Amino acid sequence: MDYYSQRINQLVEQLAQLPGVGSKTAQRLAFYLLAQPKEKVNRLADTIREAREHVCYCKECCTLTDRPVCNICADAKRNHRVIMVVENTRDLVAYEKTGKYDGVYHVLHGAISPMLGIGPGEIRLKELMTRLQGDVDEVIIATNSSLEGETTAMYISKLIKPTGIKVTRIASGVPVGGDLEYIDEMTLLRALEGRVEL
Ligand code: ZN
Repeated sequence: MDYYSQRINQLVEQLAQLPGVGSKTAQRLAFYLLAQPKEKVNRLADTIREAREHVCYCKECCTLTDRPVCNICADAKRNHRVIMVVENTRDLVAYEKTGKYDGVYHVLHGAISPMLGIGPGEIRLKELMTRLQGDVDEVIIATNSSLEGETTAMYISKLIKPTGIKVTRIASGVPVGGDLEYIDEMTLLRALEGRVEL
């Protein structure tokens, strides 16, 4: 039996599909939204629609951006011969916040996970290998220290080794299983500076 009217139910159901939102939170969010002025809710809806409409993958590094080539890839002052491989755009931002990395990035949008059925073809590896045909001195693998992140790092290093390009892995010290975005800047910098060649 439905306690709420149909439209409220639909809203709750949609919100409950968002990551980390259970049915209780979805109900709280739904009633919060319904209590807001219409203009405010419209603005939120428009922002979501426009972000989804205009945000795309950078042609170079595959990060999410609203330009064909992101600001970092378009910046001639960055060192385009050093590529840091991260799992997602949030991890890229975590390294950018340190302000100490002047290379460029490559965003995989995931990690290899045999458990979840995510193979090398499901992440942006092909795009990375294409980039390596240009002038590249070093690839820094900065995937998470989770099982998936380590599996991905191993896989990428094996793939790159035959090209002769230097492959390094950020130092451990980054908590196991910890998402990079939750780690403080000092820890990230130490991990970057202490990277070891694979
Ligand atoms: Zn880019």
